[in-house]
Order: sequence, then structure tokens, then C-alpha cells
Amino acid sequence: MIDLRSDTVTQPTTAMRQAMAQAVVGDDVYGEDKTVTKLEETAAQMLGKEAGLFVTSGTQGNQVAILTHTKRGEEVIVEADAHVFYYEVGAMAALGGLQTRPIAGERGMMPLTAMEEAIRPQNIHFPETGLICLENTHNRAGGTVLPLSYMQSVKELADRNHIPVHLDGARLFNAVVASGISAKEYAATVDSVQFCLSKGLAAPVGSVLVGTAEFIEKARKWRKMLGGGMRQAGVIAAPGLIALTQMVDRLADDHVRAKRLAQGLANIRGIVVDVDRVETNIVIADVRDSGLTPDEFLATLSECGVLAAGFGGTLVRFVTHVDITDDHIDETIAAAAFTTRMR
Ligand SMILES: *Cc1c(COP(=O)(O)O)cnc(C)c1O
Repeated sequence: MIDLRSDTVTQPTTAMRQAMAQAVVGDDVYGEDKTVTKLEETAAQMLGKEAGLFVTSGTQGNQVAILTHTKRGEEVIVEADAHVFYYEVGAMAALGGLQTRPIAGERGMMPLTAMEEAIRPQNIHFPETGLICLENTHNRAGGTVLPLSYMQSVKELADRNHIPVHLDGARLFNAVVASGISAKEYAATVDSVQFCLSKGLAAPVGSVLVGTAEFIEKARKWRKMLGGGMRQAGVIAAPGLIALTQMVDRLADDHVRAKRLAQGLANIRGIVVDVDRVETNIVIADVRDSGLTPDEFLATLSECGVLAAGFGGTLVRFVTHVDITDDHIDETIAAAAFTTRMR
């Protein structure tokens, strides 16, 4: 099967499996796992922050960050299609007692004026604005890259209002590779960053959260409360280190393949793709004009050996990753053309 459902389906590389077998480990809740510590320090250094925290997933990293930054009853400004709002099971409300203030963005960017207006003034009736969340690259916008200048403007606005900013950088390294802007430069515009090791970077498990030493100390306790205190976690941190140090540059190949896939799909009658929007490894196709529902489209596509994912409404998402080759792209375009003709 050619599996384009997500970049989370990647298999760990041979080097990762060897590193897992040989990892030096200890009880990380006691702070004694040298491999975990090395991953946390490496991540913090790469992002120019004081400290890092290895977490079980991107969702856990985001929610630990949100819990650490906020108090119950506060309001969190989020883009209306943000992962923290759309895909995290309502955790902000359920675990944090927080109210979300979604603002519709363009290519993942909330308009600055709308953000400014959404920040609550002092008034006995109002909740306090406790946090602003950004997402780069932005998944539901199609893997779009938030420009550094935009993030700087958000930080300026947030600082003026004494509000922290958290970056959901699940795919931050895709933004880094696509833009040539370093992770450090992006991270300098926010207070905390969560990024995934388990997506395009191909590690089997985990994310890292980075921020100030004080922030990470508090976050470590929230992680423990959420059941994320892991013991000999070096066996899963070891492939994470390889992900960070060896798997970043090759993301460029995924981006080239995604662009080619987008162009190929756009040439098929019945499929609409905004090729210009494809900046990284995500391709969103609208299959409405094919006369097929996304489920029908995906079912036939899978009979042709290609998996993609429904993305709400009439949209289908394809994500390229390390296990996808040039031939797979050709086969996927052919399968999509066949699928649309089957109606
Ligand atoms: C995948 C993803 C997450 C969550 O990661 P999990 O490891 O699946 O919990 C968070 N934010 C974005 C933008 C993502 O794409």
C-alpha cells in the first residue's frame, strides 16, 4: 500500500532501531535517563530555549504547555482550524477549564487586528486572555508556512498585552526546510514550542516541548499529572535524537514530491487542488466535482493501492513522508485519475 494518510505512518529507520537497542537508559522520573536528557538538551539548544521536555505525543506537549501557561477560566486565542482546537478532544476545556476564542485565519494566520480585538480588556464581566496559540506549519490550512515576520508581529502584540504565545510546531521543521529560516529564529518569537519527532522526522514516538527552565520545571509536573512520566524512556528518545539530527534536511524531498503530486492531481478532471498552497508535505484535494463523496473516492483509491484521508466536507488529504518514493507519486496520480473515471 502507498500510505499517504499522514506522515505519522513512517517506519523507524534501521539506524533508529539500532539506536533503540543500544540506548543507555535509566528512570527518567528520577531524572536518570541520560538518553532522554540528551534529547531534551539537544532540542532546547536547536530551538534556542533553556530547557526541553520529552512528551508522549504532540497532543500531550500542547496540552501540557497550555496547562502550564494558563489558569482555569481564562480564554485562549486560537486559529479556528488549529489542531489544539480541532483535534485535541476538547482537552483545553476538559482538562484546563479554559474557554477558547477561535479566530478564522487565512493560510493559518489570524488577522492581527482581529487578534488585538479579541484580547479582553479589564472588565468584571470578562475572562482574562491567558494565551495565544499559533501553528506552524498549519495542518488544516494545507501545511502552509507562517512567515517569520507574521510571528514577530504576533509576539509584539502579545508582549504589549502581557500574554504568552505557544507554538504548536508539530511540523516546525517542515517550515524550517521550506523557508530556510532556522528553528531558533521561529522559536525566538514565542514562549514555548511543541514539535513532533513522530511525523516527517520518522521517529516512532514522541514530541519535545521547549521553553524557559522555569516553564519546563512546571510543565514536567503537569506531564506527570497527565500520566506522561515515563521510566526507561531512552529507548524511544534514542530514535528521537536521530530524527532531530539526521532527518531534518531530507524533508525537502517530501516537499518536492508533494508539489508534484499536487500538480498531477490538479490536472485530473473532477479534482481541485490549490497548487500554490502546497508549500510543504501536505496536499489537500477537493473531490466535489468528481461526483464522488470523499468516502467513495477513498474506497476506490484504496482498491488501487493508495491510502489518503478524509479531511472534512469534500476534502481529501495526502501527506508525503520518508517512505514515499517518486514512483509512488506517479502511481498515486494514476490511481486518482482512474478513481475519478470510475463514476
Ligand atoms: C499531529 C499534530 C499534533 C498532535 O500530535 P500527536 O502526536 O498526534 O498527538 C499537533 N498539532 C499538529 C499541527 C499536528 O499536525
